[in-house]
Amino acid sequence: MANSRCTYLVGDAKVSVLNSGDSVSTIAEVVRVPEEFRGAYGKKLDAKYLAPIWTIHIRLPNASILVDPNDYDLVCPPGSASVPENYKPAKVEDQLLELGVSAEEITHVVITHRHFDHYAGVTKKDLIMGYVPSYPRASCLLNKADWESSKKLEEDAAKYGVVLMDPEEDFRSLGVVRRANLLQLLDGDTELVQGLRIISAPGETPGHQIVRVAFGGKTLYCIGDLYHHSIEVEHPSWMAPWADPSTNAESRLALATAASSEEAIVVAGHMPVGRIEKSGSTFRWVDA
Ligand SMILES: [Zn+2]
Repeated sequence: MANSRCTYLVGDAKVSVLNSGDSVSTIAEVVRVPEEFRGAYGKKLDAKYLAPIWTIHIRLPNASILVDPNDYDLVCPPGSASVPENYKPAKVEDQLLELGVSAEEITHVVITHRHFDHYAGVTKKDLIMGYVPSYPRASCLLNKADWESSKKLEEDAAKYGVVLMDPEEDFRSLGVVRRANLLQLLDGDTELVQGLRIISAPGETPGHQIVRVAFGGKTLYCIGDLYHHSIEVEHPSWMAPWADPSTNAESRLALATAASSEEAIVVAGHMPVGRIEKSGSTFRWVDA
């Protein structure tokens, strides 16, 4: 299975890529392909495929970090068109326990951007307490621009059907984390701990950010939704209709240049894990 769980050793870091669940997707839903190219791709743009929704755990010597914690049942409710037939993926918390990782040991949660499939798992429902933080000791790191720009995000959500909630009034998700004093808003690049850096990569949303793990001469990136499909690596001006074209293209060029020269492993939110190769002045995606 292309979308099954995998683990990578990056020097002293152990990176486990967990599939919170596959969603039924098409390229046309997430990439706006220019009219003149549509003929060349034919039916491929509307062909259904299974896209993973990754949650990534990074174990470092002094930190236990979760990137984009999802809750599949909230993002893809049972019976909705995005759920494959007779499909019930294992919950992220259970997959973490299988790896020997408890919710209490998580020190940081990094949210690449404020689209619900990248943070739906920050809370869980407690029968007595109501919604509580899923990772009670973890600082939850979101870029300030994604917290503040809720109007644009909400307009985009309404227009393009991206699932999103208003955090200020959100009683069951980021609002709960904020009231527990666990939400930390970042402003620009941040060296979180030795070997792990959060890098601004705006475009998909105003505060979109990516994670770079670099240890022992090896590098791995968690790039959120900087790309949704490999077609965008070859055609970096093709992107989701809600993305900002110029900032997104700049962010993509910076990542593709760095990741290809570092021969880094790249984990995009909804693609099989891979690498980016440079050929001449263009880039291409290679599945790992
Ligand atoms: Zn996403």
